Amino acid sequence: MMTYVIIGVVIGLGLVLCFLLAVANFSFNQFYEKFKENDARRNSYGITTLEYVSRINQAYFNNKLRLTKCAKFKDFYGGGIVGLSESTMKSNSLSSLAIVSHELGHARQDFTSNKIKKHGKMRLAGRICGLFFMPSLIAGGVISVLQVFDVLQPFYFLIIGLSLIGLSVLIFFFAIFLKYKEIQIEKEASDFALEYLREYLTEPEVEYCKEVLDGARLTYWAALVRTLLSWTLLTPKNTLFK
Ligand SMILES: [Zn+2]
Repeated sequence: MMTYVIIGVVIGLGLVLCFLLAVANFSFNQFYEKFKENDARRNSYGITTLEYVSRINQAYFNNKLRLTKCAKFKDFYGGGIVGLSESTMKSNSLSSLAIVSHELGHARQDFTSNKIKKHGKMRLAGRICGLFFMPSLIAGGVISVLQVFDVLQPFYFLIIGLSLIGLSVLIFFFAIFLKYKEIQIEKEASDFALEYLREYLTEPEVEYCKEVLDGARLTYWAALVRTLLSWTLLTPKNTLFK
């Protein structure tokens, strides 16, 4: 009986991971499609991304935000600095405006609350826990199976094995909890982004921007898979935006 339970648990967790990997791959493709589609659409207002940032900076941040250059697809916000790639700065596409607005949304969170700082600590905790997930699951599974098949006879090996599996399950749910919190922050940043965009874009254009931002949000779940499987080097490295 115990044998079937353990084998069932191991197979179950394996299936969950396969499903998550599929979601991860799908979400990146989905986001990239939306990004490309709306990168070909220029905004009707005719504003460049750089001009847009400087106007929002003036209107909402008293010109306190600083601008820096970063690599392509690494646009970011952190500590009062907005990092934009050269292609984003020059662009006037809806995708670029959406991404930059999202970073400005994070700037607003940072200026009005301590969410961003907490967020950074949470991500660090998630990454550290992720390192132990797979080793703990595999060691627990192997020790339990060896005990059940009498290779490791003392009963306490079964307790050790099941405890390790239990630990990996706890890590798994902890990581999901952290990611859920992070996604709430990302959603708020995107809501702020759409608020800023409405000042310059038509409603259909705002809808296109929303598609890009919604696509990006799905990739945060994919980031959870990366956290859990990072040690295997199986998952793609991808930081389209934070
Ligand atoms: Zn973000």
